Amino acid sequence: MAEREVDVVLLSIGADLPYFTGYEAMPSERLTVLVVRPESAPAMIIPRLEVARVESPGIEVHPWDETDDPIALAAGAGGTPNRVAVGDHMWSAFLVGFQQRWPEASWEKASSLTGELRLVKDSEEVACLRNAAHGVDRVMARIPSEVRFTGRTEAEIARDLREMTVEEGHDVAEFAIVGSGPNSASPHHEPGSRVVEEGEVIVCDFGGRWGGYYSDSTRTFVAGEPSECQVEVHAAVLAANRVGKEKAGPGVRCQDVDAAARSVMADAALDEYFIHRTGHGIGMEVHEHPYIVDGNDVELRPGMAFSVEPGAYIAGDFGVRIEDIVVCTEAGVETLNESDRSLVNVT
Ligand code: ZN
Ligand code: ZN
Ligand code: ZN
Repeated sequence: MAEREVDVVLLSIGADLPYFTGYEAMPSERLTVLVVRPESAPAMIIPRLEVARVESPGIEVHPWDETDDPIALAAGAGGTPNRVAVGDHMWSAFLVGFQQRWPEASWEKASSLTGELRLVKDSEEVACLRNAAHGVDRVMARIPSEVRFTGRTEAEIARDLREMTVEEGHDVAEFAIVGSGPNSASPHHEPGSRVVEEGEVIVCDFGGRWGGYYSDSTRTFVAGEPSECQVEVHAAVLAANRVGKEKAGPGVRCQDVDAAARSVMADAALDEYFIHRTGHGIGMEVHEHPYIVDGNDVELRPGMAFSVEPGAYIAGDFGVRIEDIVVCTEAGVETLNESDRSLVNVT
């Protein structure tokens, strides 16, 4: 903060607050905000009914009652700043209130400070990511024998995946994408009432949180026997996944990992169907820096964790995605997800 001449950082909902304090604020119309200044102890302005959940020594807790004005309390703790950094996920309902209190101040996103700290994971954080990844791998391994696909809806299958994600140790299942047949060509398809039929591919992309850290893995399955085209597209995506991971390592730019995966798709004449970046960072948020995308010249460093998830999406027909989480090491990357990446047959 001193280096950047930031006088106050305000952290509300989002991952920055639990990253620094262990306390996660509930997204709510009642403001919780940590007011951080370089020279004094951080102050947490928090609804009185939430105080019992805070266990953060070193933080001054300022409970507010239902008839208090929490913006006024927080502004009082913040002094008269020239420069304020605001947590990226703070609701504008609160931000506008702070801006009215401090009309002369200049504003920036807290991620300009916190992002650099969260970007490189320490060994404890990597251990959490590894646990989460292995949990989701165990779910993937159970799918062929335990989850029936044909004749069932995407929503029913997604519910099974969420249940198994918790059974395999996650604190909570956060998302489950199940896209069958033509729906598999929509990368973030919301599982619905469509019933899976024989001969269709099914993209399953799911994850949860374990000790505050996310898992996120995708495998593509086929109900019954795949077509030649499905096999070919899957093989290209699998090669792109492998080449992307091989390219990644310390000193390699994010955009070069993206380019490596993309060139495999181009060689297979499938690049026009690879409609998203190759990957995203992962940690206390499922999508965070570094983004593995063209134009990102950030060089990978040991401890950076991200997905490698090439895909091909042929609208109206089918799609394939294969996603692993990796962590940059001194030598290359450690791949955290190790479940079967082949076009696994399900019933
Ligand atoms: Zn995604
Ligand atoms: Zn992902
Ligand atoms: Zn995913």
